[in-house]
Amino acid sequence: MKTPGVGIAGAGLAGRLLAWRLLRRGARVSLFDAGARGDRGSAGPTAAAMLSPTAELAAADARIHELGLRSLDLWRGWLAELQARTGREVYFRREGTLVVAHAPDRGSLAHYESLLRAHLPAGEAAESMQRVDASRIGALEPLLEGRFADGLFLPLEGQLANDQLYDALAAALDAGLAACGGAWHENCPIDAVRPDALIARDGTRHEFELAVDCRGIGARAELPGLHGVRGEVLTVSAPGVQLRRPVRLIHPRYALYVAPRPGGRFIVGATELDSEDSGPVTLRSTLELGSALYSLHPEFGEARVLRLAAALRPALPDREPVAARDAAGVWRVNGLFRHGYLIAPAVVGEAERGIAAQLGLPQPAHEELRDAA
Ligand SMILES: Cc1cc2nc3c(=O)[nH]c(=O)nc-3n(C[C@H](O)[C@H](O)[C@H](O)COP(=O)(O)OP(=O)(O)OC[C@H]3O[C@@H](n4cnc5c(N)ncnc54)[C@H](O)[C@@H]3O)c2cc1C
Repeated sequence: MKTPGVGIAGAGLAGRLLAWRLLRRGARVSLFDAGARGDRGSAGPTAAAMLSPTAELAAADARIHELGLRSLDLWRGWLAELQARTGREVYFRREGTLVVAHAPDRGSLAHYESLLRAHLPAGEAAESMQRVDASRIGALEPLLEGRFADGLFLPLEGQLANDQLYDALAAALDAGLAACGGAWHENCPIDAVRPDALIARDGTRHEFELAVDCRGIGARAELPGLHGVRGEVLTVSAPGVQLRRPVRLIHPRYALYVAPRPGGRFIVGATELDSEDSGPVTLRSTLELGSALYSLHPEFGEARVLRLAAALRPALPDREPVAARDAAGVWRVNGLFRHGYLIAPAVVGEAERGIAAQLGLPQPAHEELRDAA
């Protein structure tokens, strides 16, 4: 029998956000995930969740940059609403990113700066990137006082705590799904997505008015060209060490970052390997991530290792995201690659508007009023 409303396969970053946005518009939503809501093996809970529209220009194009800037503005409102509705705080900061390099690696820093300059849209360089000297580095991050002669400051960038975001979305979804008669089906892998049905691995066909594929790398078999790009991160606890913002460490062989989190935690990431191996973190990567952290400041030497994790980023051949109906009529949100948190509000918002138009869902009343004003 057909259930009215929307069936979403995948309760990761894209699936949770889209489910919440559609519930706000009054849709009846059902969510299916291969794992349980607390599982941390996929890309979403593994990520550092840095929101880096400028730094990512070294690896991405102007569209990602533009989606990222738009999403940074959207996150503020989305997170405020989530917090107000669920009472759960989601750490979100927009205080920029500091980029530094050790003295022997200053050539790599200069190369990185020229890459960003070449890719920044005309007229944006001045507000997006500033050269900083040792005293400015010390003023921005007292921990790094005297450790680096020069660097770059990328003032527009931000970060959020993805574990808190996942929890807040789960709380909002529990309330919303219960109110609309939908459900969150955990441990229910979906093998195929049709325009109006999700086919579960046990053979059950769940029918809806409309189905959406948000399975990340789990959509590999149905989305040509989708492949995994392995990433590894280290999470440590170092309550005595203070950093206000993410710091990127440029090195000729790798570019790593240290992102502060609430409660004295730091995430160090991330390797990028063209490999579909999602097995445990290698010794080489552990050494690289740990050395980067220790070389930033020796006080990190006493940090406690909380987690070493690896996951696959879902990437399409052009490394661009997709949020659209394909030729067969299936809605897919995928290909978020290494920018999921950076661009999710803009990309998911695109799918939200398209699906709402197809189903004739109204805009939430307070947004109609705002748009009319
Ligand atoms: C190490 C690392 C660091 C990263 N750092 C950043 C960063 O700093 N900033 C940033 O913007 N992005 C970052 N990313 C990228 C970001 O995490 C991804 O772009 C984003 O998580 C992709 O979202 P998604 O919902 O498409 O996929 P996922 O988050 O992977 O979610 C997919 C969901 O689908 C479920 N699923 C899979 N198969 C099935 C199936 N057959 N049936 C049902 N459900 C299924 C999974 O269980 C999962 O819940 C990082 C990623 C990694 C791995």
